[in-house]
Amino acid sequence: MAKIVIIGGGVIGSGLAWHLAKAGVADDTVVIEPDPTYEFAATPRAFGGIRFVQGLRENFEMSRFGHEVYSRFTETVDTSDDPVDVNYHTVGYIFLGKGKDVATFEADHEMLAGAGANVQLLDRAGLEEFMPSFDFKDVDAGLHSPDDSRIDPHAALQGFRKAATRLGIRYLQDRVVDIERDSVKVTAVKLESGETLTGDIFINAANCWAQDLCRIVGMEIPVEPVRRQTFFFDIQEELEHFPGVRDHTGLSVRPDGAGFICGKTAAGKKAGFDWELDHREFDDDLWPLMAHRSRKFDAVKYKGGWVGHYDQNRMDANPIIGPWIDELENFIIAAGFSGHGLQHAPAVTRGLCELIMDGEYRSLDLSMFSYKRVLDDTPLPDSGPTP
Ligand SMILES: Cc1cc2nc3c(=O)[nH]c(=O)nc-3n(C[C@H](O)[C@H](O)[C@H](O)COP(=O)(O)OP(=O)(O)OC[C@H]3O[C@@H](n4cnc5c(N)ncnc54)[C@H](O)[C@@H]3O)c2cc1C
Repeated sequence: MAKIVIIGGGVIGSGLAWHLAKAGVADDTVVIEPDPTYEFAATPRAFGGIRFVQGLRENFEMSRFGHEVYSRFTETVDTSDDPVDVNYHTVGYIFLGKGKDVATFEADHEMLAGAGANVQLLDRAGLEEFMPSFDFKDVDAGLHSPDDSRIDPHAALQGFRKAATRLGIRYLQDRVVDIERDSVKVTAVKLESGETLTGDIFINAANCWAQDLCRIVGMEIPVEPVRRQTFFFDIQEELEHFPGVRDHTGLSVRPDGAGFICGKTAAGKKAGFDWELDHREFDDDLWPLMAHRSRKFDAVKYKGGWVGHYDQNRMDANPIIGPWIDELENFIIAAGFSGHGLQHAPAVTRGLCELIMDGEYRSLDLSMFSYKRVLDDTPLPDSGPTP
């Protein structure tokens, strides 16, 4: 069997390792991950949302498989006598839109309902009835998905890693610093420790660092780190139970235990790493947006937050999955998840495993996400709600 080298042991690298181990090639697979604590990795810093509402049928199908795996994690991802609870809870999500969002929501609703998803399209009156404490004057429609869930992302990552390790996958605590190639393939990676590792198939699962690795071999991807802060807080007043809410300003807020967490995704945010938490975003931007949405958010108790980075695909906010076609067929990338990688990890890694083992996707065709669209400059027609 070919020797498989996975670069990056986050939820994508570890999910893939688990699938490959189940396929019987654990002895031929190695994961290179420099940091077993995952301090700066995206996975432990995620919001944890596993959502059905997507603008592309393939993304919905990936989310559906994500739900399948995460909702039965302890049975599905066997970590033996040390079971991992990913804390799967159904919370529901509602997307709020205005103006041209209404047509997008209608199209998404038709596609999702046709695929069997439990989603409801609500007008303003329906929203007011559903969430009486909220102000929807600036909202024209809502897309509600009551079965959307949340999990503990760090637990999911540890679960995949433990299950993969149990089946014989080796994790090398090291970092890829250089990549050797000939005219048609990658031949080896050089590690920070000085070691050189040869292989037959190399998977770039380095997320926000994937672009740097691609550049070493001359491949350009439109994926860059984009900062995304998450804040947690309490409120003073009683509020009716409400699902995770994502509105047309990019604000996301959802109950989290006894309190709430919130964050904001905005188009055009500058690229680059910046790890310093800036609570002014909460004070000056998010809190006013929430107070505008419901008077019950007038008095909040700010409790802290953290910084993470999306591996943002500037082209179409969808991942790039598969080899560098017509150039380095054994250099496979899985990056650019743009805020969806946790929910899509089970399906993406299943697909990558099929690609490696069988030479083609078997369960779900993911070829629309290939690098070809970057080469052809044809973004995916995904107008669906962004993360
Ligand atoms: C704030 C925030 C909120 C999010 N919310 C959600 C959500 O609600 N739902 C959802 O589905 N997704 C969400 N996401 C996205 C999700 O977290 C990511 O898409 C997913 O975790 C990506 O997993 P990964 O394994 O590709 O990346 P990572 O977890 O970042 O793992 C990549 C690994 O590569 C390693 N690495 C880097 N360079 C090298 C190198 N040179 N050599 C070897 N290893 C290397 C790193 O150490 C790292 O551990 C969110 C992301 C953020 C930042």
